[in-house]
Amino acid sequence: MKVLRTQEEIKKYALAQKQAGKTIGLVPTMGALHEGHLTLMREAKKNTDVVIASVFVNPVQFGPNEDFDAYPRQFEQDCAKLEDVGVDAVFHPEPSEMYPEGFCTYVNVEGEFTKKLCGGQRPGHFRGVATVVTKLINLARADKAFFGQKDAQQVCVIRRFVEDLAIPVEIHMVPIVREENGLARSSRNAYLSPQEKEAALVLSRSLNLAATAFKKGTVQVETLKQIIKDEINKEPLAVIDYVEIYSFPALTEIETAQAGDIMAIAVKIGKTRLIDNVILEG
Ligand code: AMP
Repeated sequence: MKVLRTQEEIKKYALAQKQAGKTIGLVPTMGALHEGHLTLMREAKKNTDVVIASVFVNPVQFGPNEDFDAYPRQFEQDCAKLEDVGVDAVFHPEPSEMYPEGFCTYVNVEGEFTKKLCGGQRPGHFRGVATVVTKLINLARADKAFFGQKDAQQVCVIRRFVEDLAIPVEIHMVPIVREENGLARSSRNAYLSPQEKEAALVLSRSLNLAATAFKKGTVQVETLKQIIKDEINKEPLAVIDYVEIYSFPALTEIETAQAGDIMAIAVKIGKTRLIDNVILEG
C-alpha cells in the first residue's frame, strides 16, 4: 500500500491511475479505524479499480471546545488494517499540507437542513466537512466516494454540494456497522469507560424501540420521539442533545412518519457525545 503525504504525491498517484484507465474510489476517514470504516473500504473495492483511503483529522470541522486534540491518532495500526482489506493507497497529510498559508476558500452548504441535528449543535462543522471532502475528491480524482449512514446528515450535505457544484463523483452511502450488542461503531467509543460503554447501548436500544413501534403502526412523530426520549432518560449516565425524526435525505419536518424517514439522535454519555440513527422500514 502506498503512503501519500503531500498534495503532489496524491495528485501524481491519481493521475497515473487515470492514465492507466482505472476508476478510483475514495474513502475519507479521520483514522482510529474500526469495522465501520473497513466496511466502507470493502464496498469501495467492490465498486472501483483502485481505492484511496484518507486518514486526516480535519481541524476545520472541529469547534473550539471540541475534541480535536484528544481525537485518537494511530496511523500505524490504521495502515495495517487498510493493507489487510487491500486498500491501494492511503493519503495522510499534515494540516499545514491541506491548509497551507494563504488558504481561504471554503465550501458552505447553506440549506436550512444544515442547521438541524449536528449542524445546529456544531456551528461550522459541515463547512469544514464540505471543504475537506471537496478537496479530497479533487486530489484523488475520485469517480466514487464512500460514506457511512452513521453520519447521515453528512451524506445529505455531501450529496447536496456535489450536485450544486456539479462535481463529477458518485456518492455511495453504506449502512451503519454495529457491535453485536447494537452499539454503532465509532472512533469516539474509545473514550468510553466500561460502565459508559454499557450505558451507551441506550442509543440503539431506544431507536429500536421506536422502530418496532413504527412497524406496529405508531406513526405520530411526537409519539415516536417520546418513546426514544423515555428510554434514554432511564439511563442515568445519558444526557440527550437531540432526538429528531425527519424526512430523508431532505431532512424536512414531518408530523407523521413513513418508511424512508430518519430517526436521528445525539446523546452525551459522560463527556462523550455519540450519534446514532435508523432509517425507518415499512
Ligand atoms: P470518521 O473517521 O468518523 O470521520 O468516519 C469516516 C467515515 O466512516 C464516514 O463516512 C463515517 O460515516 C463512516 N463510519 C464511521 N462509523 C461508521 C459505522 N459504524 N458504520 C458505517 N460507517 C461508519
